[in-house]
Amino acid sequence: MSSQNPVFIPGPTNMPEEIRKAVYVPTLDHRSPAFAKIFTPAVAGVKRILRMKAGEVFILPSTGTGGWEAAISNTLSPGDTVLAARFGMFSHRWIDMCQRHGLHVQVIEAPWGQGAPVAAIEAALNNDAGHKIKAVLATHNETATGVRSDIAGIRKAMDAAGHPALFLVDGVSSVASMPFDMDGWGIDIAVTGSQKGFMLPVGLAILGVSPKALAAMQSARLPRTFFDFADQIRTNAAGGYPYTPPVGLIAGLARAVEMLEEEGMEQVFARHHRIAEGVRRAIAAWGLRPCAVTPDLCSDTVTAVVVPEGCNGTDLVQLAARKYGVAFGVGLGEVAGKVFRIGHLGMLTDVLMLAGLATAEMCMADLGWSARLGSGVAAAQDYYRDTAV
Ligand SMILES: *Cc1c(COP(=O)(O)O)cnc(C)c1O
Repeated sequence: MSSQNPVFIPGPTNMPEEIRKAVYVPTLDHRSPAFAKIFTPAVAGVKRILRMKAGEVFILPSTGTGGWEAAISNTLSPGDTVLAARFGMFSHRWIDMCQRHGLHVQVIEAPWGQGAPVAAIEAALNNDAGHKIKAVLATHNETATGVRSDIAGIRKAMDAAGHPALFLVDGVSSVASMPFDMDGWGIDIAVTGSQKGFMLPVGLAILGVSPKALAAMQSARLPRTFFDFADQIRTNAAGGYPYTPPVGLIAGLARAVEMLEEEGMEQVFARHHRIAEGVRRAIAAWGLRPCAVTPDLCSDTVTAVVVPEGCNGTDLVQLAARKYGVAFGVGLGEVAGKVFRIGHLGMLTDVLMLAGLATAEMCMADLGWSARLGSGVAAAQDYYRDTAV
Protein backbone atom coordinates (compact mmCIF):
# COMPACT_ATOMS: atom_id res chain seq x y z
CA MET A 1 0.00 0.00 0.00
CA SER A 2 1.53 3.29 -1.08
CA SER A 3 1.61 5.78 1.76
CA GLN A 4 1.61 8.49 -0.93
CA ASN A 5 -2.02 7.86 -1.74
CA PRO A 6 -4.90 9.17 0.33
CA VAL A 7 -7.17 6.58 1.94
CA PHE A 8 -10.88 6.38 1.09
CA ILE A 9 -11.98 4.52 4.19
CA PRO A 10 -14.37 5.99 6.77
CA GLY A 11 -11.68 6.23 9.43
CA PRO A 12 -8.92 6.48 10.20
CA THR A 13 -8.99 9.46 7.85
CA ASN A 14 -6.20 11.27 6.05
CA MET A 15 -4.09 13.39 8.35
CA PRO A 16 -3.23 16.99 7.45
CA GLU A 17 0.48 17.81 7.76
CA GLU A 18 -0.46 20.52 10.29
CA ILE A 19 -1.98 17.93 12.59
CA ARG A 20 0.91 15.52 12.16
CA LYS A 21 3.18 18.31 13.40
CA ALA A 22 0.86 19.31 16.24
CA VAL A 23 0.79 15.74 17.57
CA TYR A 24 4.59 15.63 17.67
CA VAL A 25 5.28 17.25 21.04
CA PRO A 26 8.32 16.71 23.26
CA THR A 27 7.83 14.83 26.50
CA LEU A 28 6.36 17.08 29.13
CA ASP A 29 5.16 16.66 32.67
CA HIS A 30 1.43 16.08 32.52
CA ARG A 31 1.11 17.42 36.06
CA SER A 32 2.64 20.75 35.08
CA PRO A 33 0.88 23.92 33.89
CA ALA A 34 2.36 23.23 30.43
CA PHE A 35 -0.12 20.37 30.04
CA ALA A 36 -3.09 22.41 31.24
CA LYS A 37 -2.27 24.93 28.49
CA ILE A 38 -2.75 22.19 25.88
CA PHE A 39 -5.70 20.48 27.55
CA THR A 40 -7.95 23.43 28.39
CA PRO A 41 -8.34 24.73 24.81
CA ALA A 42 -8.94 21.19 23.54
CA VAL A 43 -11.86 20.74 25.95
CA ALA A 44 -13.30 24.17 25.15
CA GLY A 45 -12.98 23.45 21.43
CA VAL A 46 -14.78 20.11 21.65
CA LYS A 47 -17.62 21.84 23.55
CA ARG A 48 -18.06 24.27 20.68
CA ILE A 49 -17.90 21.56 18.00
CA LEU A 50 -20.50 19.43 19.81
CA ARG A 51 -22.59 22.56 20.44
CA MET A 52 -23.00 22.10 24.18
CA LYS A 53 -23.01 24.72 26.93
CA ALA A 54 -23.57 23.00 30.27
CA GLY A 55 -22.11 19.62 31.20
CA GLU A 56 -18.64 18.16 30.72
CA VAL A 57 -16.35 17.02 27.93
CA PHE A 58 -14.18 13.99 28.61
CA ILE A 59 -11.18 13.10 26.45
CA LEU A 60 -10.11 9.55 27.27
CA PRO A 61 -7.24 7.44 25.95
CA SER A 62 -9.26 4.91 23.96
CA THR A 63 -11.30 4.70 20.74
CA GLY A 64 -14.95 5.26 19.85
CA THR A 65 -15.77 1.81 21.21
CA GLY A 66 -14.29 2.79 24.56
CA GLY A 67 -16.46 5.90 24.41
CA TRP A 68 -19.57 3.68 24.20
CA GLU A 69 -18.36 1.75 27.24
CA ALA A 70 -17.73 4.96 29.17
CA ALA A 71 -21.21 6.22 28.25
CA ILE A 72 -23.08 3.16 29.46
CA SER A 73 -20.94 2.22 32.46
CA ASN A 74 -21.20 5.70 33.99
CA THR A 75 -24.96 6.03 33.66
CA LEU A 76 -26.57 2.57 33.93
CA SER A 77 -26.88 -0.38 36.31
CA PRO A 78 -26.93 -4.14 35.68
CA GLY A 79 -30.39 -5.27 34.57
CA ASP A 80 -31.43 -1.83 33.32
CA THR A 81 -33.41 -1.75 30.09
CA VAL A 82 -32.17 0.28 27.14
CA LEU A 83 -33.88 0.81 23.80
CA ALA A 84 -31.83 0.57 20.59
CA ALA A 85 -32.41 0.02 16.89
CA ARG A 86 -30.15 -2.29 14.85
CA PHE A 87 -29.63 -1.34 11.21
CA GLY A 88 -25.92 -1.90 10.60
CA MET A 89 -22.68 -3.18 12.08
CA PHE A 90 -22.04 -0.25 14.42
CA SER A 91 -25.54 -0.06 15.88
CA HIS A 92 -25.24 -3.85 16.30
CA ARG A 93 -21.92 -3.67 18.11
CA TRP A 94 -23.21 -1.12 20.61
CA ILE A 95 -26.18 -3.42 21.36
CA ASP A 96 -23.78 -6.34 21.79
CA MET A 97 -21.70 -4.32 24.24
CA CYS A 98 -24.77 -3.44 26.32
CA GLN A 99 -25.78 -7.10 26.47
CA ARG A 100 -22.30 -8.13 27.57
CA HIS A 101 -22.56 -5.53 30.34
CA GLY A 102 -25.68 -7.23 31.67
CA LEU A 103 -28.13 -4.66 30.36
CA HIS A 104 -31.48 -5.73 28.93
CA VAL A 105 -31.62 -4.36 25.40
CA GLN A 106 -35.01 -3.87 23.80
CA VAL A 107 -33.94 -4.13 20.15
CA ILE A 108 -35.88 -2.71 17.23
CA GLU A 109 -34.71 -4.43 14.06
CA ALA A 110 -34.66 -2.29 10.92
CA PRO A 111 -33.46 -3.26 7.44
CA TRP A 112 -29.82 -2.40 6.71
CA GLY A 113 -29.98 0.65 4.46
CA GLN A 114 -32.67 2.32 6.58
CA GLY A 115 -32.11 4.72 9.47
CA ALA A 116 -33.24 4.47 13.08
CA PRO A 117 -37.04 4.00 12.87
CA VAL A 118 -38.39 7.05 14.69
CA ALA A 119 -42.05 5.94 14.72
CA ALA A 120 -41.17 2.52 16.16
CA ILE A 121 -39.01 4.18 18.82
CA GLU A 122 -41.87 6.50 19.75
CA ALA A 123 -44.27 3.54 19.94
CA ALA A 124 -41.87 1.64 22.21
CA LEU A 125 -41.57 4.65 24.50
CA ASN A 126 -45.35 5.13 24.57
CA ASN A 127 -45.69 1.47 25.57
CA ASP A 128 -43.33 1.97 28.49
CA ALA A 129 -45.67 3.71 30.92
CA GLY A 130 -43.61 2.49 33.88
CA HIS A 131 -40.44 4.05 32.46
CA LYS A 132 -38.40 0.86 32.59
CA ILE A 133 -36.34 2.11 29.65
CA LYS A 134 -33.41 4.00 31.17
CA ALA A 135 -31.67 5.03 27.96
CA VAL A 136 -32.34 5.34 24.25
CA LEU A 137 -29.26 4.55 22.12
CA ALA A 138 -28.91 5.92 18.60
CA THR A 139 -26.19 5.74 15.97
CA HIS A 140 -26.26 9.06 14.14
CA ASN A 141 -24.29 7.91 11.12
CA GLU A 142 -24.24 4.14 10.50
CA THR A 143 -20.80 3.74 8.94
CA ALA A 144 -21.49 0.22 7.66
CA THR A 145 -24.33 1.28 5.37
CA GLY A 146 -23.66 5.00 4.87
CA VAL A 147 -26.96 5.96 6.49
CA ARG A 148 -27.73 9.01 8.60
CA SER A 149 -30.49 8.92 11.18
CA ASP A 150 -32.83 11.64 12.35
CA ILE A 151 -31.49 12.37 15.83
CA ALA A 152 -33.68 15.47 16.25
CA GLY A 153 -36.66 13.29 15.32
CA ILE A 154 -35.82 10.75 18.03
CA ARG A 155 -35.58 13.56 20.59
CA LYS A 156 -39.00 14.80 19.46
CA ALA A 157 -40.39 11.29 19.85
CA MET A 158 -38.98 11.08 23.39
CA ASP A 159 -40.51 14.45 24.26
CA ALA A 160 -43.85 13.54 22.68
CA ALA A 161 -43.93 10.37 24.79
CA GLY A 162 -42.93 12.41 27.86
CA HIS A 163 -40.24 9.81 28.48
CA PRO A 164 -37.39 10.59 30.92
CA ALA A 165 -34.81 8.13 29.47
CA LEU A 166 -31.28 9.30 28.79
CA PHE A 167 -30.42 9.86 25.14
CA LEU A 168 -27.03 8.39 24.18
CA VAL A 169 -25.80 9.08 20.66
CA ASP A 170 -22.93 7.60 18.67
CA GLY A 171 -21.53 10.46 16.60
CA VAL A 172 -18.25 8.74 15.81
CA SER A 173 -18.47 9.16 12.04
CA SER A 174 -20.53 12.37 11.98
CA VAL A 175 -19.12 14.79 14.57
CA ALA A 176 -17.00 17.52 12.95
CA SER A 177 -18.11 16.43 9.45
CA MET A 178 -21.91 16.64 9.48
CA PRO A 179 -24.19 19.03 11.41
CA PHE A 180 -24.38 17.87 15.04
CA ASP A 181 -26.20 19.73 17.79
CA MET A 182 -25.86 18.20 21.24
CA ASP A 183 -27.94 20.84 23.08
CA GLY A 184 -30.41 21.43 20.27
CA TRP A 185 -31.12 17.71 19.95
CA GLY A 186 -31.26 17.16 23.71
CA ILE A 187 -28.47 14.60 23.69
CA ASP A 188 -27.27 13.37 27.08
CA ILE A 189 -24.05 11.72 25.92
CA ALA A 190 -22.42 12.21 22.53
CA VAL A 191 -19.58 9.82 21.68
CA THR A 192 -16.88 10.26 19.09
CA GLY A 193 -13.26 9.34 18.47
CA SER A 194 -10.13 11.10 17.26
CA GLN A 195 -9.54 9.35 13.93
CA LYS A 196 -12.57 10.40 11.90
CA GLY A 197 -13.82 13.99 11.58
CA PHE A 198 -11.02 15.29 13.78
CA MET A 199 -8.41 13.90 11.33
CA LEU A 200 -6.14 12.69 14.14
CA PRO A 201 -4.45 9.35 14.71
CA VAL A 202 -6.62 6.83 16.53
CA GLY A 203 -6.34 6.90 20.31
CA LEU A 204 -8.96 9.17 21.87
CA ALA A 205 -12.55 8.62 22.91
CA ILE A 206 -14.23 12.03 23.05
CA LEU A 207 -17.49 12.49 24.95
CA GLY A 208 -19.90 15.31 25.64
CA VAL A 209 -21.95 14.63 28.77
CA SER A 210 -25.07 16.57 29.82
CA PRO A 211 -25.87 17.58 33.42
CA LYS A 212 -28.67 14.97 33.40
CA ALA A 213 -26.20 12.21 32.47
CA LEU A 214 -23.77 13.45 35.13
CA ALA A 215 -26.57 13.21 37.71
CA ALA A 216 -27.30 9.63 36.59
CA MET A 217 -23.76 8.67 37.69
CA GLN A 218 -24.88 8.89 41.32
CA SER A 219 -27.10 5.82 41.08
CA ALA A 220 -25.37 3.98 38.19
CA ARG A 221 -23.83 0.75 39.46
CA LEU A 222 -22.13 -0.78 36.41
CA PRO A 223 -18.46 -1.31 37.32
CA ARG A 224 -16.05 1.30 35.98
CA THR A 225 -12.54 2.37 36.90
CA PHE A 226 -10.43 3.53 33.95
CA PHE A 227 -13.46 5.25 32.39
CA ASP A 228 -14.99 6.60 35.63
CA PHE A 229 -16.18 10.14 34.90
CA ALA A 230 -15.93 10.99 38.62
CA ASP A 231 -12.13 10.57 38.50
CA GLN A 232 -11.97 12.79 35.43
CA ILE A 233 -14.08 15.50 37.05
CA ARG A 234 -11.85 15.49 40.14
CA THR A 235 -8.68 15.98 38.11
CA ASN A 236 -9.70 17.69 34.84
CA ALA A 237 -10.84 20.89 36.56
CA ALA A 238 -7.24 21.61 37.56
CA GLY A 239 -6.01 20.74 34.06
CA GLY A 240 -4.96 17.22 34.98
CA TYR A 241 -5.78 13.53 34.62
CA PRO A 242 -6.23 10.54 36.94
CA TYR A 243 -3.51 8.81 34.88
CA THR A 244 -0.98 9.69 32.18
CA PRO A 245 -2.82 11.37 29.31
CA PRO A 246 -1.85 11.06 25.61
CA VAL A 247 -0.42 14.58 25.44
CA GLY A 248 0.42 14.52 21.73
CA LEU A 249 -3.09 13.49 20.70
CA ILE A 250 -4.64 16.13 22.92
CA ALA A 251 -2.34 18.78 21.42
CA GLY A 252 -3.41 17.54 17.98
CA LEU A 253 -7.07 17.77 18.99
CA ALA A 254 -6.66 21.42 19.98
CA ARG A 255 -5.06 22.10 16.59
CA ALA A 256 -7.76 20.14 14.76
CA VAL A 257 -10.45 22.30 16.35
CA GLU A 258 -8.56 25.43 15.29
CA MET A 259 -8.29 24.17 11.72
CA LEU A 260 -11.98 23.28 11.56
CA GLU A 261 -13.00 26.63 12.99
CA GLU A 262 -10.63 28.52 10.70
CA GLU A 263 -12.45 26.90 7.78
CA GLY A 264 -15.78 27.52 9.56
CA MET A 265 -18.02 24.66 10.67
CA GLU A 266 -20.73 25.56 8.15
CA GLN A 267 -18.11 25.41 5.38
CA VAL A 268 -16.78 22.11 6.73
CA PHE A 269 -20.28 20.62 6.55
CA ALA A 270 -20.88 22.11 3.10
CA ARG A 271 -17.57 20.72 1.83
CA HIS A 272 -18.46 17.24 3.07
CA HIS A 273 -21.89 17.50 1.48
CA ARG A 274 -20.48 18.59 -1.89
CA ILE A 275 -17.82 15.90 -1.98
CA ALA A 276 -20.41 13.28 -1.00
CA GLU A 277 -22.85 14.51 -3.63
CA GLY A 278 -20.14 14.14 -6.30
CA VAL A 279 -19.63 10.55 -5.17
CA ARG A 280 -23.37 9.92 -5.43
CA ARG A 281 -23.44 11.36 -8.97
CA ALA A 282 -20.58 9.05 -9.92
CA ILE A 283 -22.36 6.01 -8.53
CA ALA A 284 -25.50 6.83 -10.49
CA ALA A 285 -23.40 7.20 -13.66
CA TRP A 286 -21.98 3.73 -13.02
CA GLY A 287 -25.53 2.40 -12.98
CA LEU A 288 -25.19 1.51 -9.29
CA ARG A 289 -26.96 2.73 -6.16
CA PRO A 290 -26.05 3.50 -2.56
CA CYS A 291 -27.07 1.12 0.22
CA ALA A 292 -29.03 4.00 1.83
CA VAL A 293 -32.53 3.43 0.47
CA THR A 294 -33.61 7.07 0.04
CA PRO A 295 -31.62 10.24 -0.72
CA ASP A 296 -32.44 11.87 2.65
CA LEU A 297 -30.74 8.93 4.39
CA CYS A 298 -27.45 9.29 2.49
CA SER A 299 -24.49 10.05 4.72
CA ASP A 300 -22.11 12.86 3.83
CA THR A 301 -19.11 10.99 5.29
CA VAL A 302 -19.31 7.50 3.81
CA THR A 303 -21.13 5.83 0.93
CA ALA A 304 -21.73 2.09 0.77
CA VAL A 305 -22.03 1.22 -2.92
CA VAL A 306 -24.24 -1.78 -3.72
CA VAL A 307 -22.30 -3.92 -6.19
CA PRO A 308 -23.88 -5.53 -9.29
CA GLU A 309 -25.50 -8.98 -8.99
CA GLY A 310 -22.91 -11.71 -9.00
CA CYS A 311 -20.05 -9.34 -8.05
CA ASN A 312 -18.23 -9.16 -4.73
CA GLY A 313 -17.37 -5.78 -3.19
CA THR A 314 -14.49 -7.26 -1.25
CA ASP A 315 -12.79 -8.22 -4.55
CA LEU A 316 -12.74 -4.55 -5.51
CA VAL A 317 -11.31 -3.49 -2.15
CA GLN A 318 -8.57 -6.11 -2.30
CA LEU A 319 -7.68 -5.30 -5.89
CA ALA A 320 -7.51 -1.55 -5.16
CA ALA A 321 -5.09 -2.20 -2.32
CA ARG A 322 -2.92 -4.68 -4.20
CA LYS A 323 -2.76 -3.11 -7.62
CA TYR A 324 -3.18 0.63 -7.01
CA GLY A 325 -2.20 1.13 -3.36
CA VAL A 326 -5.56 2.67 -2.52
CA ALA A 327 -7.80 1.79 0.44
CA PHE A 328 -11.59 1.50 0.21
CA GLY A 329 -13.77 -0.04 2.91
CA VAL A 330 -15.17 -3.58 2.74
CA GLY A 331 -18.78 -4.43 3.48
CA LEU A 332 -19.40 -5.53 7.07
CA GLY A 333 -21.82 -8.04 8.59
CA GLU A 334 -25.05 -8.51 6.64
CA VAL A 335 -23.75 -6.50 3.68
CA ALA A 336 -20.31 -8.17 3.48
CA GLY A 337 -19.49 -8.68 -0.20
CA LYS A 338 -22.67 -6.89 -1.23
CA VAL A 339 -21.19 -3.40 -0.94
CA PHE A 340 -17.88 -1.65 -0.95
CA ARG A 341 -17.52 1.59 0.97
CA ILE A 342 -16.06 4.90 -0.08
CA GLY A 343 -15.05 7.02 2.90
CA HIS A 344 -15.24 10.75 2.18
CA LEU A 345 -14.64 12.54 5.44
CA GLY A 346 -11.82 14.49 6.97
CA MET A 347 -9.32 16.51 4.98
CA LEU A 348 -10.62 15.58 1.52
CA THR A 349 -10.94 17.92 -1.46
CA ASP A 350 -12.68 17.59 -4.84
CA VAL A 351 -9.35 16.72 -6.43
CA LEU A 352 -8.56 13.92 -3.99
CA MET A 353 -12.07 12.54 -4.33
CA LEU A 354 -11.81 12.43 -8.12
CA ALA A 355 -8.65 10.33 -7.73
CA GLY A 356 -10.58 7.90 -5.55
CA LEU A 357 -13.46 7.65 -8.02
CA ALA A 358 -11.02 7.12 -10.91
CA THR A 359 -9.35 4.30 -8.97
CA ALA A 360 -12.69 2.64 -8.23
CA GLU A 361 -13.46 2.77 -11.98
CA MET A 362 -10.15 1.14 -12.87
CA CYS A 363 -10.88 -1.65 -10.42
CA MET A 364 -14.39 -2.16 -11.80
CA ALA A 365 -12.98 -2.35 -15.34
CA ASP A 366 -10.30 -4.82 -14.18
CA LEU A 367 -13.00 -6.97 -12.59
CA GLY A 368 -15.20 -6.87 -15.69
CA TRP A 369 -18.04 -4.92 -14.05
CA SER A 370 -20.12 -2.94 -16.49
CA ALA A 371 -19.30 0.64 -15.38
CA ARG A 372 -17.56 2.55 -18.17
CA LEU A 373 -14.15 4.13 -17.47
CA GLY A 374 -14.51 7.86 -16.91
CA SER A 375 -18.29 7.83 -16.55
CA GLY A 376 -18.45 8.39 -12.80
CA VAL A 377 -15.47 10.72 -12.80
CA ALA A 378 -17.15 12.87 -15.47
CA ALA A 379 -20.40 13.06 -13.49
CA ALA A 380 -18.50 14.13 -10.38
CA GLN A 381 -16.39 16.60 -12.39
CA ASP A 382 -19.52 18.25 -13.77
CA TYR A 383 -20.98 18.55 -10.29
CA TYR A 384 -17.75 19.88 -8.76
CA ARG A 385 -17.29 22.42 -11.59
CA ASP A 386 -20.84 23.68 -11.18
CA THR A 387 -20.65 24.00 -7.41
CA ALA A 388 -17.05 25.05 -6.74
CA VAL A 389 -16.88 28.05 -4.41
C1 LIG B 1 -15.63 3.95 13.71
C2 LIG B 1 -16.91 3.86 14.41
C3 LIG B 1 -17.03 3.31 15.69
C4 LIG B 1 -15.92 2.61 16.39
O1 LIG B 1 -14.89 3.44 16.69
P1 LIG B 1 -13.45 2.84 17.06
O2 LIG B 1 -12.68 4.11 17.21
O3 LIG B 1 -13.01 2.00 15.90
O4 LIG B 1 -13.59 2.09 18.31
C5 LIG B 1 -18.25 3.36 16.32
N1 LIG B 1 -19.32 3.89 15.71
C6 LIG B 1 -19.27 4.40 14.48
C7 LIG B 1 -20.50 4.97 13.87
C8 LIG B 1 -18.06 4.39 13.78
O5 LIG B 1 -18.01 4.89 12.55
